[in-house]
Amino acid sequence: MNNLVVFVFISTTVYICSSRPNDNTGYFWQVTDFHYDANYSIKGNPLKMCHDLSDGHYGNSIYGNYHCDSPWLLIQSATAAMKRIQPDPDFILWTGDSVPHVGNDILDLQKVLTNIGNISQHLQSVFPNIPIYPVLGNHDEYPADSYPPELNSSYYREVLQRAHFDTLLTNDTAKQFLTGGYYTTLIRPGLRVMGLNTNLLYSQDKLTNSAVDPANMLQWMTETLTNARQNKEKVILLSHVPPGLFEKYSSLMWFYDKFNTQYVRILQKFSDVITSQIYGHEHTDSYRILKDSNGSPQGVLFLAPAVTPWNSSLAGVGANNPSIRLYAYNTQDGTILNYKQYYLNLASLIQGNGNTNWTLEYDAKTDYSIPDLSPKSMLNLAQSFKADNSALFSKYLTYNSVSQIRNPPCDSACKLTQVCSIMELERENFNLCSTSESITTTRPPDPHHRRRRPVDKMYIYIIIGLGALVFILFIIVGIICIKRRRHFVPFRFSRFSNSLSSGPIN
Ligand SMILES: [Zn+2]
Repeated sequence: MNNLVVFVFISTTVYICSSRPNDNTGYFWQVTDFHYDANYSIKGNPLKMCHDLSDGHYGNSIYGNYHCDSPWLLIQSATAAMKRIQPDPDFILWTGDSVPHVGNDILDLQKVLTNIGNISQHLQSVFPNIPIYPVLGNHDEYPADSYPPELNSSYYREVLQRAHFDTLLTNDTAKQFLTGGYYTTLIRPGLRVMGLNTNLLYSQDKLTNSAVDPANMLQWMTETLTNARQNKEKVILLSHVPPGLFEKYSSLMWFYDKFNTQYVRILQKFSDVITSQIYGHEHTDSYRILKDSNGSPQGVLFLAPAVTPWNSSLAGVGANNPSIRLYAYNTQDGTILNYKQYYLNLASLIQGNGNTNWTLEYDAKTDYSIPDLSPKSMLNLAQSFKADNSALFSKYLTYNSVSQIRNPPCDSACKLTQVCSIMELERENFNLCSTSESITTTRPPDPHHRRRRPVDKMYIYIIIGLGALVFILFIIVGIICIKRRRHFVPFRFSRFSNSLSSGPIN
């Protein structure tokens, strides 16, 4: 009888375990757009980037001001929060922009490299045993937005040596980085990261506007993805500037149009290989859907908000609260399973009501009520935004600026730009989307009613598990019954029942 109890216990355990989230779940941090300003001062004029020019005493918070870039204390606070919340991630993706939004007259090459190097060393000191994969931002060059189209610019050697990227990258990846600020390396067998330098495609870079393929990055990207496919590998792509249009600024496309088209074609062609895409640059919290030529969703581009709270110089864009993002991903194929957005409520802190506790702003799956973060689910989410008075769109808008109050509120034109930017990566399709009247007149099914919430699923698993247990018991009782009849032993249900009641099932 003891064997029977063990059998039932093992069967039940195996069944219950098989219905739990898969064991391939891993975690990684994305941190982006620190924009560390060594000249930040609590005495500085917020309208002059909080630099102390001795024209008054402004009493800025030691942790930052919405009109200014990050003081060192804010950066330390952000990384301390990362360490506290998840001290042992599989790796960290650092998606660029360490240099403040100040004029070229205030900066020079040495200051730019020192800034990046300070962050490199700081991240390593906080996470000494965790792989950190960096990419450069458009501000991480001197002057900003001036990456050259030629191969093997000496700047990349400077970044490796003087900004300490050589301590983050292996010898092999550092060698690749010298070509044009891009590289690829295996995280584990079958899964690699591909760090790009999409600043080369950025429409503010006047050095690359006439180039066909700046620093050969697009060709390298195609070759790397072709090899990955042949080797049955999946790829996590990270870069600073994303393709597509800015959701907060009508018709602003980040790449030159020609590069945007080429880049999107590569993403489409290799959508089976690239399982996740991680970007920064916008300072806002958003995402993009990659579609195939028939309009079916193929991929999701995740755009994480910044650490710097800096109020954008683009009219109407505004500021954001400082933020960091923790992803859950499938360690085997690199797909994003979920993410949690953490932030520091700077307004509350400045008013003296808050503290430096970074808190959870939202959990993507739970707060958007989506079953997963697949391309299909994320497209459905964007489509649900179209509805009049969509509660999910209101949530998205709040998260878009990291819970920093938007002023003025988002009108119908703003909403069109927001939704069409998420749904369309190319200008022509964006224009079609943004001239469509469907956004304000159609009401797609409410995802709250269409999808099962995780808690509902849990009850279903419990019921199925109990059903399976009863079935197993039924079979066991049947077998025992048959055996006893064969041996002409009368079946005594009370004895069997007593044995079971002492088992571990309860
Ligand atoms: Zn930035």
